[in-house]
Parts: sequence; C-alpha cells; structure tokens
Amino acid sequence: MKELICINCPKGCHIFINNDEIKGYSCLRGLYYAKNELTNPLRNLSSTIKIKDSNLMCPVKSSKPLPKDKINLVMKEINKVDVSLPIKFHQVIIKNVLNLEVDIISTKEIN
Ligand code: SF4
Repeated sequence: MKELICINCPKGCHIFINNDEIKGYSCLRGLYYAKNELTNPLRNLSSTIKIKDSNLMCPVKSSKPLPKDKINLVMKEINKVDVSLPIKFHQVIIKNVLNLEVDIISTKEIN
C-alpha cells in the first residue's frame, strides 16, 4: 500500500493506494492528484537566478508544474543563466525550458 498526502488544499487528505484501489480523498482533485502521482508526478519549481554584474538574485518560478523527474535538470538550466536589469514581474527568463512547454518566469520586479 502506498500513502500520499494531497497537496491541493490545506485539508491535506491522506490518500491510500492499493493496486487499483484509491481511498481517502475527499474530492475529485484528490483522486486526479493520486492518479497523476502514480503516472506522471508534477511539481511547481521556485528558485533564484543570478543578476548580471550584481550580487543580487532574482526569484523565479515555473509557469506551471513540471514533471518531478525533470526538476534537477531544470535546476541545472537555471544555474547556467544570469539576467540583466531591469527585470519585470512575470518576465520570461527561460522560454520553454528543456522543451517541457514550461517557462521559467520572474516573481519580482527589480530595477
Ligand atoms: S482530496 Fe480534496 S479536500 Fe482532500 S486535500 Fe485534496 S483537494 Fe483538499
């Protein structure tokens, strides 16, 4: 039996998966979450990117959840990049990272 904690809302339902049986979710979002965790687990990514000619870092995030098994590869791409000022809120820093159809975007305006 596998146990997951649903991360879609603060209730944090404990979901139990035993072969084809899925129990413990309180709504359909939990059921879809459990099915995705079994087949293609996804995670949002937050990190920082170097600002060129500065000691400052710019906070960034993925524009949508990424496959969990690609997170380390995406972090390597993020660590290769530096960005010039000014930076706009939600500016695309890395477009279509690793062809995953996800952008890395800034989460702060920095001038
Ligand atoms: S199953 Fe539904 S109610 Fe339970 S934590 Fe997930 S989203 Fe919230």
